[in-house]
Parts: sequence; C-alpha cells; structure tokens
Amino acid sequence: MNNTLSNHTCPVCGSSHFEVFFEMLEVPVFCNVLWSEKSGAQTCKKGDIKLSFCSDCGFIGNVAFDPSRLEYTQVYENSLDFSPRFQDYAKSLAKRLIENHNLHDKDIIEIGCGKGDFLFLLCELGNNQGVGFDPSYVPLESHQKIQDRMQIIQDYYSDKYANYASDFICCRHTLEHIPQPISLLKNLRKTIGERQNTAVFFEVPNALDTFRDMAIWDIIYEHCCYFAPVCLSQAFSISGFKVSKVTEEYRGQFLCLESQPGEVSTTLTQEQSQQLQQLAHEITAFTTKFKNKVETWTDKLEYLANQGQRAVVWGAGSKGVTFLNLLKHQQQIEYVVDLNPRKHGMYVAGTGQEIVAPEFLREYQPNVVLIMNPIYEKEIQQMTEDMGLNPEFMCV
Ligand SMILES: [Zn+2]
Repeated sequence: MNNTLSNHTCPVCGSSHFEVFFEMLEVPVFCNVLWSEKSGAQTCKKGDIKLSFCSDCGFIGNVAFDPSRLEYTQVYENSLDFSPRFQDYAKSLAKRLIENHNLHDKDIIEIGCGKGDFLFLLCELGNNQGVGFDPSYVPLESHQKIQDRMQIIQDYYSDKYANYASDFICCRHTLEHIPQPISLLKNLRKTIGERQNTAVFFEVPNALDTFRDMAIWDIIYEHCCYFAPVCLSQAFSISGFKVSKVTEEYRGQFLCLESQPGEVSTTLTQEQSQQLQQLAHEITAFTTKFKNKVETWTDKLEYLANQGQRAVVWGAGSKGVTFLNLLKHQQQIEYVVDLNPRKHGMYVAGTGQEIVAPEFLREYQPNVVLIMNPIYEKEIQQMTEDMGLNPEFMCV
C-alpha cells in the first residue's frame, strides 16, 4: 500500500485537479505525545503541512505528510474522556447507535478503538460482544468486568482479520490519519463481502468546521486527511457502500456517517455538486482568513502581556498545542490546564508549557482563561467558579 499522498492525484477520486492551497511549516508531528521534560518537548520532531484541495470531490489532504515520522506508542494520549461534556456525547452516541441498529447481543468491531472506551460503552449498554483493533491499546483495569465479552487486538485492522464477522463495524477518528483512506474503505468492503446487513459507522472531524467556520487550530500533522460531508460521502460510494446519512455532530465539530454495503458509485447528486462548489469558495478564501485570525490573536496576547495580565490556555489537546505553536513568539503563556491526569506535569510539544490540573489555578490566579474548544465553555466556567476564581474567559 502506498503510504504517502501524491502531489498531483487525489487519493479519493483519482482526479488530477488536486492543488496545494495552504502551507504551515515546521509543526510538531505529534500534538498528543506526552513529554516529561521541557527540553524534549521544545526540540520535538517537526514536519510540514501542505494542504491540497481536490475540486472534483472536495478532498483535502497534506501532500507533505510522511507517515514514517509518526510511530504511535502508549505515550500517545488523545483521550478526551475526562471531560463530562465529551463523556455525555459518547454515551448518547452509543445509545443512539444501539437503538437505530438494534444492537443487542450482537457482534461489534471497532477499528482504531484507542483505549477501548467507546467499544466498552457499546458492549455494556447493549449487552453486545466486541472486538477492537488498535496497535496503541493498553489494557485498563476498568474494562475487566466485561472481558469475557470484549477483546482488543493490539494491531491494525486488516483483511487478515476477515474471519471476525460482525453485525456492526464502527471507526471513530481514525480515517483522517490514513494517507490512503480509500484503501481502508475498499479493504473493509471486501472483508464484509456478502454480509449485506453489516452496518458501518464512521466518525471524523468535520472539515467544514475547520475551513469554513475557521476552527483553524484543528490543522495538525497527525491528520493527513480532512473530510467535508460531500467528500466523506463520496469516499464511501466509491468504495462500494450505500450511505444512508451524514450528520454534523458535537456542535458541528464531527461528521458521523452511517452506511451499509452497496454498489460502487462515482456520481455526485446535484445537491452534492452545490456543496462542492461552496466548499471550493471557502478554500479560496481560507489562507487570508487564516492569517487574519493568527494576527488577531498575536495582537490580543501582546495586549494582555502589556497590561500585565496572566493568561492560561485551557485544553492541552490538538487545538491548544497548535494554538501555542502558531503563536510561539509570545512569551506570556506559562501553563496549560487539562482535565486529563495523565497529562499533568508533562510539557506541550514544540513550545514547552507545563500542563497542570485545574486546581493549580487557585494558586496561579490567572486573569484570563483562553478556552480552546467553545463546547467546553460552560464546564470550564463552572469549574473555575467552584474554585472561587473570577477570570475573564476568551474562546479562541
Ligand atoms: Zn478527489
């Protein structure tokens, strides 16, 4: 399998109308690897992002992506499960999928299951049996109570596991990491074979949130692919799936696609063609809007520094790490708050701020809290209020 993106050919539809429109050079290759020393964090491995847009299917991909620079290991930490807001979302998604697909006492496969938390939910809430695949999996004690019904294989999912039949296959936040997403989808289709009733669910970050609504801090090296609804749908049709729906979830930050095996189709509907045109307009305007947003934040941080205001970033995930790296010339921000205890005492890739627990703010007394993801605004405000603090909040 070819593991890089071609400079000239769209990896989804094969079109040659695949042009670079945006560059972000020398960024940390990992936003989510934990660094126990500041110096190691600051000198971490870097890579370039050169995004190309396909005007025939809407695919966006990093043509400078080199997968050999990435090796996922246990220190990779991208679990969002410490946020109550995210936990609620995962739980309601699991319940919805169980209900819509009548998942009771069924066989479930999760591709790229991470720490297995979502598969655990599906198995526990629907009394199902699950097999998860992820090379970075580390066994957790809390999963032991259903270990007779849930198995995790520390490997990439591939056709060598075709003997694992299932009623439902899900894959969340994985496709965007794969340089040749069509290979994964076509292999999956082949593996399902004649089992036409297998339901297939995928969730990916929503490219419209990043490129239309300017959630620009989501552009990271780990993501070599970005999907808007039109392209995600097209990728599945090309690979022989019948897409039943694509919805925007989690305040538009995620796309959820539901499908089942079907015929290969390469034509766009009229509505999809219009969506594609609209996306092309957003892409044309993107670089200017990106520069404006970075400049605005550079000015804001400089202003705060001049006023002697102490600011912290809340959220040491991809968004926080990218924000700090894009604004790396500011000297002001010393700490990043995160709910995930596995991150505490560690350092931000590229810029080296220390990651601290929310309780640290009692002592630090920040004037300003920069909220990296607006979806957590309320829970962050509540937590700081409960600590008796009254900082100004800014959504980044
Ligand atoms: Zn294409």
